[in-house]
Amino acid sequence: MLSVGEALARVLDATPVLGPERVPLLDALGRVAAEDVVSRRAVPAAANSAMDGYAVRAADVAAAPVRLRVVAAVAAGTVCDTPVVAGTAVKLFTGSVIPPGADAVVKVEATEAQDGAVLVREAVRPGANVRAAGEDVAPGAVVVRRGTTLEPADLGVLASVGRATVLVHRRPRVVVVPTGAELVELDQEPGPGQVVNSNAVALAAAVRAAGVEPVVLPIVHDRLDDVRARIAEAADADVVLTSGGVSVGDLDFVKAALDGLGVERLFWQVAQKPGRPLTFGRRGGRLFFGLPGNPVSALVCFWVYARPALRRLAGHRRLHLPVVDARLAAPVRKAAGLTEFVRVALAETAAGWVATAAPSQGSGVLTALAAGAGLLVGPAPLRELPGGKSYPVIVPAASGLEREDAAPLGSGVQI
Ligand code: AMP
Ligand code: MG
Repeated sequence: MLSVGEALARVLDATPVLGPERVPLLDALGRVAAEDVVSRRAVPAAANSAMDGYAVRAADVAAAPVRLRVVAAVAAGTVCDTPVVAGTAVKLFTGSVIPPGADAVVKVEATEAQDGAVLVREAVRPGANVRAAGEDVAPGAVVVRRGTTLEPADLGVLASVGRATVLVHRRPRVVVVPTGAELVELDQEPGPGQVVNSNAVALAAAVRAAGVEPVVLPIVHDRLDDVRARIAEAADADVVLTSGGVSVGDLDFVKAALDGLGVERLFWQVAQKPGRPLTFGRRGGRLFFGLPGNPVSALVCFWVYARPALRRLAGHRRLHLPVVDARLAAPVRKAAGLTEFVRVALAETAAGWVATAAPSQGSGVLTALAAGAGLLVGPAPLRELPGGKSYPVIVPAASGLEREDAAPLGSGVQI
């Protein structure tokens, strides 16, 4: 059976990067630049003051305290033509353009306004409190490189150089197809033997958390023709995520349906727990993940395999979820020969992260994955993970690594 690493490599080998589209800046948040953006402007455009104060000639105030005649005042957003000549100063504010002749700014706290004049109490060096033209961005500079994931500061930089739009990689269209004759929709009361279609919600939420808006199709029952027809409805999707029906049961029709639609099967079954029945295929540039129906398996397979593919499609270079090293609080038994994604609660201590395995590791026990749980990766060969040892823990929930305590850097670290 394929190892986790081999299966993931097959997924990523089959995953293309989507082409570009132009979007307004705010719509580009979290997306990946598909162009190098070169600034035609200098930012700031002109030398300006970093302080409220007075523009002076540094040489004039070298022997401070000195009295200078105030010949003008210049508000931010206006330009002052009156030059600063020997013995004079111009009053200005943070962001005011430095008037001709001045080479430094004395901050207002080091001065005393007098009638038509200012008493400067401190000497300043040439260039003091002056923000040079182009200090942030020189004309011709590349301000955003192709491949950059656009965060708030990147978008601010683009705005500052006068861009209103940016070329980014297209986001994948993702369709979720829940299968199972036992399933009922959220607004229905499950009868005997029926199960609420929770995977549709959990998977759609996981897709959205990965920055993509999914389309969820209605439940399809376990009939080959119906499953095939429903998957075929997702014709324009870049990625189809089915849930359920990929195991070895008589009523598991997803693989046959995908075969019937001409999807090339790149693997079925991975040496892992949970999620062993995962299947993956491709047709043209479109990807098909047959996720197992067990709710934990479906999410784990999404995070480990489908999410990196969605990110590659969208142009990201960083594909995988964050991982922390955590010490396992107590030993955990596991299946030899399978990589095990052990559901753990993470706690941060003075000695680092500590992982405590959820009491039930059943692939139907979705609550074990709730509340920001992590996935401790137990190596395939082992039968038992000894307590006290450190293991990598995948942290799928964005809230999982945020800080709960009052000390932003953790206890004992001063800021
Ligand atoms: P399957 O992979 O189809 O054999 O399903 C395995 C288990 O997952 C069964 O107990 C199903 O009832 C459950 N299951 C399948 N699909 C869903 C779903 N969409 N939501 C919640 N549970 C599901
Ligand atoms: Mg089923």
